[in-house]
Amino acid sequence: MKECLLNFSYAELENLILSLGEKKFRAGQIFRSLHLGLEFNDMTDLSKVFREKLIESYDAQPVRIIKHLQSVDGTMKFLFALRDGNVVEGVLMKYNHGYSLCISTQVGCRMRCVFCASGLNGLVRNLEAGEILGEVICVNKFLGGALGENRKIINIVLMGSGEPLDNYDNTVKFLRLVSEKNGINISQRNISLSTSGIVPKMYELANENVSVNLTISLHSPFDEERQKIMPIAKTYKISQILDACSNYFEKTGRRYIFEYVLIKGENDTSAHAEALISLLKGRPCHINLIRLNEVKENNLKSGTDKEAYRFMGVLEKAGLSATVRRKMGEDIDGACGQLRQRYLSENE
Ligand code: SAH
Repeated sequence: MKECLLNFSYAELENLILSLGEKKFRAGQIFRSLHLGLEFNDMTDLSKVFREKLIESYDAQPVRIIKHLQSVDGTMKFLFALRDGNVVEGVLMKYNHGYSLCISTQVGCRMRCVFCASGLNGLVRNLEAGEILGEVICVNKFLGGALGENRKIINIVLMGSGEPLDNYDNTVKFLRLVSEKNGINISQRNISLSTSGIVPKMYELANENVSVNLTISLHSPFDEERQKIMPIAKTYKISQILDACSNYFEKTGRRYIFEYVLIKGENDTSAHAEALISLLKGRPCHINLIRLNEVKENNLKSGTDKEAYRFMGVLEKAGLSATVRRKMGEDIDGACGQLRQRYLSENE
């Protein structure tokens, strides 16, 4: 398969353009066009000969929207096709200040968390940096957005399918590409990276000089129980995760966030709330409680809204910062991996 130019940083593109015997300023034109979501044939500011030369050796856009679903609450779900026929998904949420896009970092996932649809068939492959970027670029184009100030997407969350820190190099490269000033230029401060807690990579990330918000999927305050919900917990203990979070805070000055999917009868009792309090009290963190989106492939149930808010109340009363995540897109397979899973079973 041809290499994809959306993988290239501005500096890399400049080198390529010079090596092709073209003038340096062409790099700027091409970089902007790529981030606008254009194919080579649409780059009419380039000569036809040069466009053909590029087409011979490279692809421009690695991602195409093949399906989009609109929820009654305004949330949109996208199914993206990659060049090799694999599909991944993303979710677009509209907030008062603009759009937030949740994207995938892998096709499938190795983590196999019990409540999640993404890992049902294991990992297929990592996404390239340009493919992760491609999800953002094509949705921005779909929304009629342009670059910089004129982009429509202002927030990105790496919370779709895949474990970003299990695809570390491509994810970090993506974080740099998407925040380049000549491109779509989404500030790293408006990007959240969610991890199941791959401790060594959390330390590495703290040294990358990317100032993204770190979010950790916790889902239980007890190691033994957490291992039943998330197999990765057999490798990294909660105490190790907390140490890595403290390090991230020291290095970046950024408060971290814990995600906690409330599963009825499994991790939502008052004993869980109390244990969370002793674990997290006094830490510069926030807890995001998530009502489970039920997945038909497992038997886990969601509690009621009232129960979720009661759980939150217990945490707040003890001085923790906690919210219940707005429930969105339930009618359109809103949770990780659900849409791809349905697509795969329908197309078998
Ligand atoms: N691998 C990373 C990022 C992807 S999962 C991680 O584990 O953090 C990101 C989050 O999606 C999970 O923490 C969980 O909060 C949420 N999620 C996945 N499946 C869900 C479901 N069925 N219902 C509700 N939330 C879900």
